[in-house]
Amino acid sequence: MTTNPKGSWPFSPSEAPEPISEDLEAQKIAEQQKLIEVLKFTPRTYKISMWGYGGERVMGTVDKTIWDYCNDNQVDLQEIAWGDEDTVEEMGLDIDMLPFPPGQWYECDDMGHISGVSRNAGTLQIEDENGNTIFEKSLDDITGGGCDGEPDWCCDDEVWAGSKSKDTVVFIGVSNEKGTFFEADLELKAPFDITKLELHYDEFDGEEIVTGIVYDGEDIDNWGGSTDGKSSDMNMVLITDDEGNWERYEPEEKDWGHPPIGSSPSDWEKSPRFKFSKVKPTVEGWYSAVWHSFGTTYGTLYWNGTEFGEWEHGQFKPVAGVDTWQGYNWDTSSWVNQPPEPVDVICDNKECGWVGKGADRRTDDDYNDHCPECDGTEFSWIDYDPDTKEGRANRKKYCKEWDPADALEKICKAFPMTESDKDV
Ligand SMILES: [Zn+2]
Repeated sequence: MTTNPKGSWPFSPSEAPEPISEDLEAQKIAEQQKLIEVLKFTPRTYKISMWGYGGERVMGTVDKTIWDYCNDNQVDLQEIAWGDEDTVEEMGLDIDMLPFPPGQWYECDDMGHISGVSRNAGTLQIEDENGNTIFEKSLDDITGGGCDGEPDWCCDDEVWAGSKSKDTVVFIGVSNEKGTFFEADLELKAPFDITKLELHYDEFDGEEIVTGIVYDGEDIDNWGGSTDGKSSDMNMVLITDDEGNWERYEPEEKDWGHPPIGSSPSDWEKSPRFKFSKVKPTVEGWYSAVWHSFGTTYGTLYWNGTEFGEWEHGQFKPVAGVDTWQGYNWDTSSWVNQPPEPVDVICDNKECGWVGKGADRRTDDDYNDHCPECDGTEFSWIDYDPDTKEGRANRKKYCKEWDPADALEKICKAFPMTESDKDV
C-alpha cells in the first residue's frame, strides 16, 4: 500500500523559473488598480465628428461596346448622370448602351464605392459628455503610426482604374460635397484613450477618403451628417496597355441645334422692359427675360412667334410664368438696320462739357485718358437705361435715328473693294 498524504494525482515539478514574488505582487497591484479605475468609471458618451470636403466616389467596369456607342453618339455622361429616362429618350439614345441607368451613376460600382471626407480637406473633432472639445485637428496634420495623443491611420482598400488590363473600360463617378460627413456617439465604459482610435480610409485613384472610425477594435456607427453637393465629375477611361496607361472619354460637345444667339444689345439699343401680360414681341428670336418657376430666373428665352421657351436637345420647350422681356430697339433681321452708335462719355469739367466717344480721348503713357478739348481726366459715362428717366432723356438728346447714308457707309466698309474689283 502506498501513501500520498498531499493528494492522489502524480505531480512533476515545472521547468519554468519560479516568478519572483515581488514582481508578482507588482503585477497584481497594477491589475487591481486598472480594475478599480474601470469599476469607478461611470459610463459616458463622447461625440466624434468629421467635416470638410469629400463626397461619394464609384468606379466600375463598362463594356467596350458601350464606350464605342457613347463615342459615336457624343453621349454627355454628366447629363445622363443627372437626367432621367425621359432625358435619354429625348436625346434619342439607347438606354441599354449607357454605362449606368439614367440618374443612377453610383450604380456602376463593381470596382469600388465609397463616401467620406477627404483626408487632405477635413477635420476630426471629439467632444466629451459635457460638449467640451477634447480633440480637434485637421486630418492632414494627424501623423498616426503610434504618435502620442493621436489616432492611428488604417488603409482598408486601394482602387485604381489603371489596375485593369488593356482594353478594359472603367467608369469613374465623383460627387463632391461639403459639410459634416461623420457624426457618431462613442459609448465609453473605461476612460477614453485616443491611441485606441483608428481612422479608416480608402485610396481611390490616388485620393484618400476617410470612410470610417474604429475604437478599441469596434466599428463606430456613423449616424450620418449633412452635406451639400458642390460639383460632380463623370468620367470614363479606356485602358490602353498593361502598364496602367489610359485614354479619357472626351466626346465632342454635341450640337443639338437651336436658332443662333447673337450678341446682347448695348444699353443705348435696348428696348424698354415690357410686361409680358401687356406686350408681346413681334419678331422671332432671343430676348432677355424674367420668369417665375421655382423662384425667379433672369435669363435668355426664345420667342417663337407665339410663346417664350428654351431649346433643349434640339427641341423647343415652352416656358410659363414669363413676367417681363426686353430686346433690341431696332430690327435685328439685318445689322444694316442698326442706328448709329451714340456718344458715350462726358467731360466732367463743367466749363468744357465735351461729349464724345470714349475712344476719341487721348491716352497718355500711363494709360490715363484725356479730354481732347480741355485735357481733363475726369469723365462720366452716359446712362442709356431705357427704364430710367435720365436714360430716356439721354436717348432723346444723343441717339440718332437710323440713317441711310450711315448704313451705306457701313456696308462699304464691310465689303472693301479689292484690286480685282477695280479692274472690272
Ligand atoms: Zn474737357
